[in-house]
Amino acid sequence: TRGVTKVYQMGEVQVHALRGIDLELYKGEFVVLLGPSGSGKSTLLNILGGLDVPTSGTVNYEDHDLSTFREAVLTRYRREHVGFVFQFYNLIPSLTARENVALVTEIATNPMPPDEALALVNLSDRLDHFPAQLSGGEQQRVAIARAIAKRPDVLLCDEPTGALDISTGIVVLEALARVNRDLGTTTAVITHNVAIAGMADRVIRLSDGRIADIEINSSRQSPAELSW
Ligand code: ATP
Ligand code: MG
Repeated sequence: TRGVTKVYQMGEVQVHALRGIDLELYKGEFVVLLGPSGSGKSTLLNILGGLDVPTSGTVNYEDHDLSTFREAVLTRYRREHVGFVFQFYNLIPSLTARENVALVTEIATNPMPPDEALALVNLSDRLDHFPAQLSGGEQQRVAIARAIAKRPDVLLCDEPTGALDISTGIVVLEALARVNRDLGTTTAVITHNVAIAGMADRVIRLSDGRIADIEINSSRQSPAELSW
């Protein structure tokens, strides 16, 4: 992104959600976005994923400027290149774990088999479980499997552990770190779970719509070292 701003017009009032963001995500890296509530984290993630458009500034995907994409091309960008994971898993209750993932692989151009995606998040023994039969952490890992099964280039996660306790959250973050390592999926995660800092290549702090600080982690731990 270059000089990205986002202003929401709420009647007479303008909310400056982003005030000029210059940020580059490198292929295959694992980035964590931190910052207080209202600092613009979700707005930035949504703009990166093509779910929202900036008020000014540019967003490039590889060599392409997203703002020049026609709606159909933007839809294809979101569908083929970006995976999303949100706080609430949005699984379909009447479908098993495998079927929830299969729903996405049926419309993807180069998907991996659902069982393979679920194996990557360590759920090979839960393929035929329905969401109600899974713990919160397991449901979120199904949602991650669903997001990665289409082999996206970029995985964007907005508070994926927000509804989980700390230790369950760590297992979910570990699953994300493992996917990043095994598939090389460029990953950006918004979280308040500080345990993730050691898993990330870079920790980016937002404050009041600006990048306040970028911490580069040269001694990133592998997910295996983080398991216990
Ligand atoms: P949180 O940690 O609470 O999720 P955040 O860092 O993700 O916060 P954003 O959701 O990006 O913050 O919001 C940044 C600012 O923009 C906030 O002041 C918010 O109220 C405002 N905002 C976000 N989305 C909209 C919208 N659709 N319409 C109007 N204002 C919005
Ligand atoms: Mg948010």
